[in-house]
Amino acid sequence: MMPRWKWASSREKDPMSAGDEDLRMIPRWSMVLALLLFAAMQYIFHWVMPHHKHEMLPLRLMMGYAWGTMWASYALLLGYVSRDVKRRGMSAGLWMLMCVVLPGGIGAVVYFMLRQPVLSRCPNCSTEIAATYHYCPQCQFQMAPVCGECHRGVRITDVYCTQCGHDLAEDGAPARLRAYSDSE
Ligand SMILES: [Zn+2]
Ligand SMILES: [Zn+2]
Repeated sequence: MMPRWKWASSREKDPMSAGDEDLRMIPRWSMVLALLLFAAMQYIFHWVMPHHKHEMLPLRLMMGYAWGTMWASYALLLGYVSRDVKRRGMSAGLWMLMCVVLPGGIGAVVYFMLRQPVLSRCPNCSTEIAATYHYCPQCQFQMAPVCGECHRGVRITDVYCTQCGHDLAEDGAPARLRAYSDSE
């Protein structure tokens, strides 16, 4: 089992490392598909399309590159969505269809607007939990810092509750949910 302090620090990830994680979210098939689509666009613009004049070469290069990049990005986006839906507990089939059917990436935009928060697992009993939960519904493991008086969520750095002014040090919350311990 992962030590609790390690789990707590990996949970509050900064935007930089979140970007790295998103890159690992792209499956291999979509990378291969992206390369194939890019190559196919080069093929279409340089061999399939008729060209008579040599002056048109820079334009053909540009068009092939632009279309190739566009289709490759689309393939990578599809791959990302196919993995992202799973960790959010959403319907993979439905959203993949949306992204493919709606033209010009509109499906993907709709997806990014409507997607649910990432599901994680309770470090104590492995129940699937949403990011908004304060406690695990199965084993009462405390996921987020809350005020002991009014039970609203507080930030890890708060010393007093912003809603009722309660002294949070009195709650005896687990140390992993407090930035300042009593010894300081
Ligand atoms: Zn649990
Ligand atoms: Zn409070």
